[in-house]
Amino acid sequence: MSVREWLQRYDRQLKLLGIEGQERLRHARVMVVGVGGLGCAASLYLAAAGVGEILLVDPERVELSNLNRQVLYWIRDLGRLKVEVAAHKLTEFNPGVKIHALATRVTPDNVEEIVSKADLVIDGLDNWEARLLVNDACVKLRKPFIHAAVEGFRGQMMVVIPGEGPCLQCLVSRPPPSRARLQVLGATPCLMAMMQVTEAVKILAGVGEPAVGRLILYDGYRMEFSEVKVRRMPDCPSCGA
Ligand SMILES: [Zn+2]
Repeated sequence: MSVREWLQRYDRQLKLLGIEGQERLRHARVMVVGVGGLGCAASLYLAAAGVGEILLVDPERVELSNLNRQVLYWIRDLGRLKVEVAAHKLTEFNPGVKIHALATRVTPDNVEEIVSKADLVIDGLDNWEARLLVNDACVKLRKPFIHAAVEGFRGQMMVVIPGEGPCLQCLVSRPPPSRARLQVLGATPCLMAMMQVTEAVKILAGVGEPAVGRLILYDGYRMEFSEVKVRRMPDCPSCGA
């Protein structure tokens, strides 16, 4: 992309972020772990914002039942690896963004190596076991981690900045049980992903105030937002001394 095209493409946000902020986005590498309902929407808007490199991590293939919420996957993509389909579409959408596709599951053995490649991590996962693994690696490697989770018409979001506030492990001392095949209205993860991207862009560009230590709760049934203050646990197994 020429400088002229770059200035045009980001014209409507350059005054918000400043040229320097936009440059910081261009040099940033963001990992989206889990490219489902949250991750599809998040990666699309990270690419729109001009994040220089996006690393997609997901081992799964596209199924018909994904299509009510995972908007980067269409009928023609059924059976293909999600990260490959997403990488292709995102590259076409914004060729100025480099997409890396990693068709793997995060495990205790690989999580630190994967997280070490990113400047910031977006939680697009659907289970707490993996979330807490990623949280732990982010705390250890001091990478900002933007958590979100959804079910039905409800969602939650919290920003973890290691050293500056509580981590995800402080929030849930024990992982809540994983429940297979939750019901989810597609609009719910999309909404929560937009909050994650807002926070990611702010942190990377250095504008605004991230929601550190604040669990933001969304209830679509009642169309209500609320929040809970989260404290750092001194004896947290992840971020405690
Ligand atoms: Zn903690």
